[in-house]
This record gives sequence, C-alpha cells and structure tokens, in this order.
Amino acid sequence: MVIQVRPSLGVRLGGLRQRNDQTLSLEVISLRATTPPPRNPRDPRNPTPITVPPPSNNPSPTPSLPPGSQTPRGRVLVVIDPGHGGKDPGAVGLGGLREVDVILPISLEVSQLLKQQGVEVMMTRNADYFISLQGRTAMANRARANIFVSIHANAVGGGRSNVSGMETFYAGNRQLADAIHRSILRNVTVARDRGVKRARFYVLRTSRMPSALVEVGFVTGSVDNARLRDPAYRSQMARAIALGILDYIRQKRL
Ligand SMILES: [Zn+2]
Repeated sequence: MVIQVRPSLGVRLGGLRQRNDQTLSLEVISLRATTPPPRNPRDPRNPTPITVPPPSNNPSPTPSLPPGSQTPRGRVLVVIDPGHGGKDPGAVGLGGLREVDVILPISLEVSQLLKQQGVEVMMTRNADYFISLQGRTAMANRARANIFVSIHANAVGGGRSNVSGMETFYAGNRQLADAIHRSILRNVTVARDRGVKRARFYVLRTSRMPSALVEVGFVTGSVDNARLRDPAYRSQMARAIALGILDYIRQKRL
C-alpha cells in the first residue's frame, strides 16, 4: 500500500513518525504567520480582550543557551537521529545500561535547545521505536534538511571496561563533525578524546547534506557508564552538541 500526501501551498510536511504498530502520524506545518483580523474596539461583538502577560520565568526544564549571538539567520532544518530504537536497543553495557536509554534523552534535549534558538528540527524518532537506517536518511533527504546529526553510544567487547571516551565520525566533509567535537571538548569533561574520524557508516554516506555521527561514550566503559547514567552529564552533552551545531550554522552562514 502506498499513501501519497502532497501539501498545499503554504503548508510544509514535517516528520513522519511511527507511534506504534497501528499508527503513523504526519506533522503538517503551516508556513503562514497567523495574524488576527483587525479589531474594531467599538464593535460589541469584538470586545477588547483581557491580555494576560506570559509568565516571566521559563517553564522549560532544559537550561537555555546564551541568547543573541547563537541565533542563526535563515531557515535551517536540522535532523537529529537517535540511533537504534524499539526492537534494536543498540549496545548494552555494564549494569545493563542500554545505548537507546542514553541517546534518546540526549537527542530530545539537543532538539529542544536548537528549537529555542530558532532552528527547525526534525527527529528521525522521538520515542523508543524501530526505524530502519534507510528510513532515517530518506527522511532527511526528502525534507531537504541542511544538517544531519546521528547520536550513538559506543561499546567494546571482551570485558574491556577500561575503554572510555567520545569520538565523532564523518564520511565526506569533516567541518560539521569538527564543530560538534570541538564543542563537546570545550563544554564537557570527557574520559578521553578519541578524535574525529572518517567512517563510511550508512547514515553518513547516504545523507545528501553535511552529516556527522557522535559516539557520546562507552556504555561498556566503567568511567563513561557512570557518567552516561547521570542526567546532568547527559544534559551537558546535549548542550555541547547543540552549541556545536549552532557554531557550524554560523560558520557556514546557513
Ligand atoms: Zn549505536
């Protein structure tokens, strides 16, 4: 079965997400600013509304990024891709710590921080469900995203719990990977800098936009494992990744 959805003028299609086995949901985004019609104050049908000022404190649980300097110029669409999901938990490390349970909260926070800075974000998945590798890059390519960032956690076999550290991969141009990697080293205490490396991972070589894959740490490493379990550490990592993406957006004047 094939269902085609063609958006009308002024409407853009957002992410297609599989909520469960029975439900697919499609985000539809209006590109028009919603301007209320001019109001005649004397018109009894249009009484002046009582305006309630918005609450001054930020209700968001995520710490905001510094305002101003980070704000990009135009419309930039970033795809955030938390690896694995659903039937595929990714790596499983010490104490049963699962890669998916580390990278989804980080990815959700990266997404939220970027949106706060006016960047459009599409997530390949925003909950714990399965999505194929092909589905991930197809989503980004179809949406003509500007940037694709995949987020993973690492593992080694053989009980080598002494192996910890973060690394960032690229397939073509390394600038995006460099920007993210630098920001992580600047903003997070990492167990070890394993560097920026070239690898022909499927999602990197099939995405048509600049892409990078971040391995935030080893679930099998005793140092990383303890840190990756800590929500505060994951938040630091998310903030660093978001700042790195924003640095790249500014560098490239996107
Ligand atoms: Zn992974």
